[in-house]
Amino acid sequence: MKLVLKITVFVMIITLRTTIYRGIIVLKNTKNGGLIMSKKINVVIWNENFHEQTKPEIAAVYPKGIHGAIAEKLSELGEYNIKTATLDQPCHGLTDEVLDNCDVLIWWGHAKHGDVSDEIAEKVKNRVLDGMGFIALHSAHLCKPFVKLMGTVCRSKWRENDEKERIWVIEPSHPIAEGLPEYIELEQEETYGERFEIPTPDDLVFISWFSGGEVFRSGVCYKRGLGKVFYFRPGHESYPTYYRDDIALIIRNAVEWASPRNFTRPTLGHFEAIEKVKDKFEGMSDADRKHENLGK
Ligand code: ZN
Repeated sequence: MKLVLKITVFVMIITLRTTIYRGIIVLKNTKNGGLIMSKKINVVIWNENFHEQTKPEIAAVYPKGIHGAIAEKLSELGEYNIKTATLDQPCHGLTDEVLDNCDVLIWWGHAKHGDVSDEIAEKVKNRVLDGMGFIALHSAHLCKPFVKLMGTVCRSKWRENDEKERIWVIEPSHPIAEGLPEYIELEQEETYGERFEIPTPDDLVFISWFSGGEVFRSGVCYKRGLGKVFYFRPGHESYPTYYRDDIALIIRNAVEWASPRNFTRPTLGHFEAIEKVKDKFEGMSDADRKHENLGK
C-alpha cells in the first residue's frame, strides 16, 4: 500500500513537471519565431485487436481493447495527442498521413503478425530510421516492424501458467525507470524465458524473474537510425496488466524517452568542404565533377 502511494505521488509530480517543462519550451520557441516544436507528443497506439473480438473472456478484461486501456492510462499521465489504430482498418490504420504525423508508435500484436502487410511494416521501419519512436509491447517482439528493426528472429520461450513476475529495475538512472521502486511484482502474468533472440541491447533497463524459475530481459532499448526503440515484456491479453499505474508509468516514460527531439538533420551524400581547401577538380563543370566523383 505504501509503495502504491509513493508511485501515485511520483506520477502526480512528474505529470505537473512535464506540463510546466513543455510550456517553457513552447514559449521559448514562440519568442524565437515559432520554431517547429509541437506542444504535445503525437502517440499512435496500434493493436491487432483480435482476442478482444473473438474471446469473451479477453473482452471482459479489455472491453475497450488493449489499445483503449493503454490510451486511457496514458492520458491520465500527461497531455498527449493520442490516436489508436487496429489491424482491420484500411492500411491497418497506419496511412502515410498517420505515420508522418506520429512521434511514437506503440504496438501490441500476438496472433496476427502474419496478417500485417509487408508494405506497412516496411513503412513503419523506415519511419523509425527517420526518427519516429517505436515501443513494442509483450508478444510484439515477433511483430514484423520489430523483427525488421532488430535483424534477428526475436523468439523466446513462453508458458501461460498464472505465475508471478518480478521485474527488477537494473538501470535505475535510465529515463524509462524514473519514479520506479527497486522492483515491481505482477501477481499473475504469462512467463517468458531466455534465451530471447535479440541483438545485445544498447540499454538493458529491466530483467524479469518468474516464479517458475525463468529470467528474461524484459525492458530493452535500441537506437535504430535516427529513431529509438523500446521493448517491454508484460501485457499478456488475459491479465489486466495495462490498468496498473506502475506499468502505465513505464509506458509513459518510454513515450517521453522515444519521442524525437528537436534535432538538426544530418547532411548526407556529396557536400562541399567547410574549410578552405584546394579544389581537386578546379575548372571542371558540375556535370563532369559529378561524373568524376561517381566514377570512383
Ligand atoms: Zn502473451
